[in-house]
Amino acid sequence: MTRRRRIYEGKAKVLFEGPEPGTLVQYFKDDATAFNNQKRGTITGKGVLNNRISEYLMTRLGEIGVPTHFVRRLNMREQLVREVEIIPIELVVRNVAAGSLTKRFGIPEGTPLPRSIVEYYYKSDELGDPMVSEEHITAFGWASPQDLDDMMALSLRINDYLTGLFLGIGLRLVDFKLEFGRLWENEEMRIVLADEISPDNCRLWDIKTNEKLDKDRFRQDLGQVEEAYQEVARRLGILPEGGPGDLKGPKVMQ
Ligand code: UDP
Repeated sequence: MTRRRRIYEGKAKVLFEGPEPGTLVQYFKDDATAFNNQKRGTITGKGVLNNRISEYLMTRLGEIGVPTHFVRRLNMREQLVREVEIIPIELVVRNVAAGSLTKRFGIPEGTPLPRSIVEYYYKSDELGDPMVSEEHITAFGWASPQDLDDMMALSLRINDYLTGLFLGIGLRLVDFKLEFGRLWENEEMRIVLADEISPDNCRLWDIKTNEKLDKDRFRQDLGQVEEAYQEVARRLGILPEGGPGDLKGPKVMQ
């Protein structure tokens, strides 16, 4: 078998050339990193679960009219996506204080925020993803004011939708990170959701117990990391008792 051309290798995923021009294959690894690569490890089965979880969430978002790069899942660890030009900005949407926000402003973890807050970070491993303002983004040409408007509007819609979806399965969407890309069709450019949405880039807490069911279990050495990712997939109805099988809808919690 001829090896496909590797386009890019990131911390948790590899991108290969896709079967047709304008497509890529996104391969999900079990590797996990935290604190800008200072902590490294593997979470067995994470790639398989994130591939499914991201497929599920991107598909639901597509159904409500959020444009995404997702085309279809190919196998356990791979999905076909549209090739986009990644905008080098990470958008973090926050509903509840956690992580860097608690450190920066001294707000106790778990404090509900008065309204959802969107922050921008410049994607740069060398610089440790510094937080930036709209002024930096437009002045340095990373995105135009129109791109930013589109990304902000999409992020808030995604937050509203996912907050409800996760609430329905007993999970609080504390915060999450999104990446967007530019997709050209003929002469038209559209901003679309790219990357992945999974417990690697969301904070998800059990509504009743506040148990963390996301990558913080790895970051903070809380143990039961694989189990947490499995639990998210199980509640979404995409990990039936017998293991990965039919895609079913979420189980509504009473
Ligand atoms: N996040 C991410 N990638 C990053 C930084 C943050 O996916 O490079 C996610 C993280 O999982 C959390 C949210 O963005 O859901 C907010 O992260 P925060 O700024 O609190 O940083 P952290 O505490 O993760 O360093």
